[in-house]
Amino acid sequence: MALVSLRDVTKTFPPSQRGGTPVTAIDRVSLDIEAGDVYGIIGYSGAGKSTLVRLINALESVSSGSILVDGVEINGLRESELRRLRLGIGMIFQQFNLFNSKTVWNNVAYPLRVARTPKHEIGPRVDELLSFVGLSDKAKNYPEQLSGGQKQRVGIARALATSPRILLADESTSALDPETTQEVLALLKRVNEEFGVTIIVITHEMDVIQTLATKVAVMDAGRVVEHGDVFDVFSRP
Ligand code: ADP
Ligand code: ADP
Repeated sequence: MALVSLRDVTKTFPPSQRGGTPVTAIDRVSLDIEAGDVYGIIGYSGAGKSTLVRLINALESVSSGSILVDGVEINGLRESELRRLRLGIGMIFQQFNLFNSKTVWNNVAYPLRVARTPKHEIGPRVDELLSFVGLSDKAKNYPEQLSGGQKQRVGIARALATSPRILLADESTSALDPETTQEVLALLKRVNEEFGVTIIVITHEMDVIQTLATKVAVMDAGRVVEHGDVFDVFSRP
């Protein structure tokens, strides 16, 4: 059974208050993401990638079709079940989305506090995560004192805090220079290999897919126009 399974999913946004026509952001998409995959979703701006992420995270609900995570239909989950679903899905973002007023340490501790992790477990866990991303010496710094690559490493540590099975990376290297991008991608590869975390990588950059992903879906205008092993999809003439 796939870890994340989309069956004929469509998402249509209603017209805005000022009129216009409905927008079909996701159009009859079916996808299976297996546990342990690094699954790339690539497409131009407006292809529907972010909407897809928001549907998997249940931040938006489908217009039709179904999304199963671990075999459980996520549409219509109760609030408590949704919270549990989201604890199992870490997210990292293009603009990092760190709390500027919190130290690096407290950024990473945040999801553990939200999940009401016992205090004596939070300390060792945060220390372990900062060590994993190579930022133990920055624990007391604030995000503005860090480089872009360091910020994203904090983002990764924070996303992993509650030991999620799935990591959603939404344009997570698009704000970084090529060298830093490679460092962050290498770290994500370790997250997949050492912890077995399934990674879903949303990007418009071919390089990111080729460096990191094993499977890929190509999106265009809300549809998956091609999918399969990265090698097969991109080696065709
Ligand atoms: P991508 O992440 O690939 O750039 P998006 O998922 O952001 O694509 O957008 C896909 C389409 O859905 C675009 O036409 C966008 O304008 C539209 N869209 C996304 N979110 C909304 C929304 N909340 N309301 C209306 N239209 C939206
Ligand atoms: P609080 O009292 O706010 O619940 P803690 O007692 O967990 O928080 O931590 C107090 C402060 O010390 C926090 O601001 C945190 O940044 C810092 N801190 C706690 N443990 C560590 C640690 N192992 N390494 C670095 N800083 C830490």
